Amino acid sequence: MEATVELEGRVALVTGGSRGIGAATARALAERGADVAIGYTASAGKAEEVVRDIEDTGRRAAAYQADQADPAQVAKLVARVVEDFGRLDVLVNNAGVITHEVLGEDGTGTGALERMYDVNLGGVVAAVRSAAPVLAQGGRIITIGSNLSARTGFPGMADYAATKAAVIGYSKGAARDLAPRGITVNVIRSGSVATDMNPEDGPSADAQRAANAMGRFGRPEEIAAGVVFLAGPSASFVTGAVLDIDGGYLA
Ligand code: NDP
Repeated sequence: MEATVELEGRVALVTGGSRGIGAATARALAERGADVAIGYTASAGKAEEVVRDIEDTGRRAAAYQADQADPAQVAKLVARVVEDFGRLDVLVNNAGVITHEVLGEDGTGTGALERMYDVNLGGVVAAVRSAAPVLAQGGRIITIGSNLSARTGFPGMADYAATKAAVIGYSKGAARDLAPRGITVNVIRSGSVATDMNPEDGPSADAQRAANAMGRFGRPEEIAAGVVFLAGPSASFVTGAVLDIDGGYLA
């Protein structure tokens, strides 16, 4: 049977597409027919690997180095994608960083907090602001949030959870602003997913498994499946929504 290619002719930009959930998302969007640009900051080799895999399937792909914490670099990233690919239909705000800091126990510096705000929130805001004027009619913006913004569950998560809660409010506002052009804006609240950020054998892995109904980590492809749905034509009436893909962490 021929694969469904409902994203044929669409151009997607996935930030943080070199590894983990972003890499799986870039590959999944390409499988559905999209040409895909990815952003990364350090992993040039891994980014090129994702590009090669996508090109092997016959789709166009390119990788761009851009630090999501720097709005000027983000604006340049979006502009270059439009210049190189001719259009932009789908923006996936996936790049993110996490630092654990238990209040009253760990350091009192605000460096980690500022970095998380700059990347997890500032990067999303910068990308949405840059993409909004150039996104095609019927475009899509999908941001990877976190289940920890709905129920923190573990110590040390206050700063991270705050950044991930903020992107939900921002996305709801953007959904209102962009709906007249048929552009939808949604958030996927991801649960524990096995990646470099959150390895399945990490110190809190057993606690994370025990905290969700399915008793396991998710795979990056299981988050990518939600992005594919929200990016596709069948999600045309879904906007300002939060989709939980978390193995029942919130059940
Ligand atoms: P990884 O750490 O495995 O990958 C992070 C990706 O983001 C990499 O491609 C990395 O690029 C990129 N990135 C990090 N910082 C920047 C930056 N400043 N500028 C540009 N790109 C950057 O993370 P995951 O795949 O696990 O996470 C992806 C998203 O999902 C994040 O937003 C995370 O908060 C969220 N999430 C993850 C969960 C999990 O359990 N894994 C749970 C809930 C949410 P490079 O390779 O160049 O470093």
